[in-house]
This record gives sequence, C-alpha cells and structure tokens, in this order.
Amino acid sequence: MPAPGPVRFGIISWMQYAPPLLGTGDPPPFHVAEGRPDCPFVLAADHAGRVLPRSLGTLGLTQAELDTHIAWDIGIAGVTRELARQLGAFMILQVYSRLVIDCNRPLGAHSSIVELSEFTSIPGNKGLSTAQVAERARLVFEPYHARILAEIERRERAGLPIVYVAMHSFTPRFKGVDRRWHCGVLYNRDSRLARPLLQLLAREGLEVGDNEPYFVSDESDYGIPHYGERRGHLSVELEIRQDLIATEEQQVSWGNLLGRVLPAALAAHRAGGGGSLEG
Ligand SMILES: [Zn+2]
Repeated sequence: MPAPGPVRFGIISWMQYAPPLLGTGDPPPFHVAEGRPDCPFVLAADHAGRVLPRSLGTLGLTQAELDTHIAWDIGIAGVTRELARQLGAFMILQVYSRLVIDCNRPLGAHSSIVELSEFTSIPGNKGLSTAQVAERARLVFEPYHARILAEIERRERAGLPIVYVAMHSFTPRFKGVDRRWHCGVLYNRDSRLARPLLQLLAREGLEVGDNEPYFVSDESDYGIPHYGERRGHLSVELEIRQDLIATEEQQVSWGNLLGRVLPAALAAHRAGGGGSLEG
C-alpha cells in the first residue's frame, strides 16, 4: 500500500462557485405594453426599475442609497405608463436597476457598469470579471434591447411611422448644484421633433432645458442613436425633474401633459415646423 501523499487543496476560483446572475426568484428584465397599432410613439424607460438580482445582494449599498436616483429614474415609470395609456403607445420599462448595467449606454462604455455614481462608491461593481460583465449584458441589457429592436423592425416591415421617445428623470440637485429646469428636451443629430416640443412645453409655462441637464451623444446614450438617428426615425429624449413626479398624482398629471404636447409637436413637425436632421 503506497504511503499517502500530501493532501492537495485545489484552488477553486470564485467564478466556479458564483451563482448565475438571475435565478428563479428574479423577474424578467422588462415590462411591455403593446399599445395600439396606429400609434407611432415607442416609449422606452431604460432606468424605470430598481430591482437587483438576488445573487447581487445589495451591491454593498444601504437601502437608503438604493432608494436614491443612483439606482433608478425616480417617478418615470408612472409617467411613462400614464403617457402610454393616453397615447395608446408601445411602452417598454427596464425592470432592473441601472446599477446592474445601464441600458442607455453602449456595452463596454466606462459608464455601462458604474463603480462610482455621483458621490457613492458601488462595492458590488468593483473588480468584475469579463464573464460577470458579459452575463449582465446577456441577461439584462440584451433581452431588453432585442425587444425594442423587434418592435422597431416590425413597424418598419409594416411601413408604420415610428417616433422613439426615451423617458428619463433627473435629480433636482446634482453634485451640490440645484437644477432649475422642470424638464429637459434632449437630442443630438436630429432635432426635428425636439424643436417644436421645446416651444410647446415652454408655452405650458415650464422652464425647459434645451439639451439640459444632459445632451444626447453616442457615448452617453444607446436608444436615440440606435433606434432614432441611425434608422432615420424621429426621436427625442425627455428628462423630468424628480421632485415634480414624486407622487402618483404628479405622474398622472405629467402623463396627461405629455399626452397632449407630444402629438402636437409631431403635428407641428409634419406641418413643417423647425428642427433639422444632420448628416
Ligand atoms: Zn435615465
């Protein structure tokens, strides 16, 4: 009988033991309302949800931190639901928090999976392996965008008009600076819908940011460049200040307002009002 050799402990990497990102208790990554076939508006709220997959725990954050704008666009789900109802529009809401992966950033962008959001460090996003990053993309980002693309392509095949509206909300104060705008109209190469929309929102007595507090770019956005600009469809990004859509009543009120103003802006564009399409 041979003498027993030294006991060897294998080095088992964390990845071999890591649970899959999404399990049976986790919801699907998006919620859709189909809308009426004759409605041209396609509403997408990339930051509507704040669910974290169970496997990620709290990402190392407190509940108080997870309640803030760093996790989601507060109030925008309610506004988008009401707006979709008013217009009979197709609507898609991302269910998972942008802290899991940001569905309004190109994959691989520095801000796709943030390690620092405003002043808050995100411990659970630090030191991710390539496989972990790929899994977040595969299970959260890709199915969401595949659903939007399917809707856009279905409408294209049917020869239906498409107006892509990206729905977002912004925090009233960011990095110590108050933001005065009630809402913002954002665009990059295509201002065809943004121009009449800016005018109509201002006529409602609102302080409207013209590409404020953010602007659309290929680095900081995904939906508008991919579904609007590159395919030639009308598009605009809307930002609403979060304290104005904190309650359900406020969300319904903004849904009503946008339900009037968006079709009016589309009508003004079709009648030949302002805006341009670059390149
Ligand atoms: Zn957003």
